[in-house]
Amino acid sequence: MMKTTYLFSLNGIACFLVWDDNIASGDEFVYKDISFFRTFPQPGFAWAAVVGYQLMNWYAQNRFCGSCGAITLEKKNERALVCTNCQTTIYPKISPAIIVAIIDGDRILLARNSNFIHNWYSLIAGYADIGESLEEAVQREVKEEVGLEVHNIMYYKSQPWPFSSSMMIGFFAEVVHSREICIDNKEITDAAWFKRGQLPNHPPTISIAGEMIELFERDDVGV
Ligand SMILES: [Zn+2]
Repeated sequence: MMKTTYLFSLNGIACFLVWDDNIASGDEFVYKDISFFRTFPQPGFAWAAVVGYQLMNWYAQNRFCGSCGAITLEKKNERALVCTNCQTTIYPKISPAIIVAIIDGDRILLARNSNFIHNWYSLIAGYADIGESLEEAVQREVKEEVGLEVHNIMYYKSQPWPFSSSMMIGFFAEVVHSREICIDNKEITDAAWFKRGQLPNHPPTISIAGEMIELFERDDVGV
């Protein structure tokens, strides 16, 4: 019998993960790389695919208990796995990451990351560390990556990013003057101030980064 795991309900339709590797061998289904869904025109299907992908990885990586090594089983009443031996409960892991648009009047700081596949300039981003507030993470990442200080840090909104099991938490912030941009030359290969109306290639608005850059471009930030 085909092994399935209930994932979630989408518009009243129950969605299951099918663990059988051979399901796509016929003409009816085809495998795609998960990045295919980054630009997929139907957001509901794209959401189901990428969140299903995130959950599949989580289930696959937690088949055994990290405390005692025994097999885990799905918990019945909530999304969790429970160890069959020591009863440790394992919840899905979501990594909080800040993303910050640094504003200086009619200029925005955009940076090129060495991991970008496109020739894009985007916002400064990074994972929050243990024991650190999100505001502290914003200040640390900005300092580490471009050598600047920011203040007036304002929360904008968040966006789950299932490709990396992250929660992107967006902020606008104002630069504190007296410092020059000093890039880390590891993650960041270039960073500069760009004036409204003269922005370089940047991510599309499907991502929170693209959305925030577009808000700046339309002078709709409110900073
Ligand atoms: Zn255990």
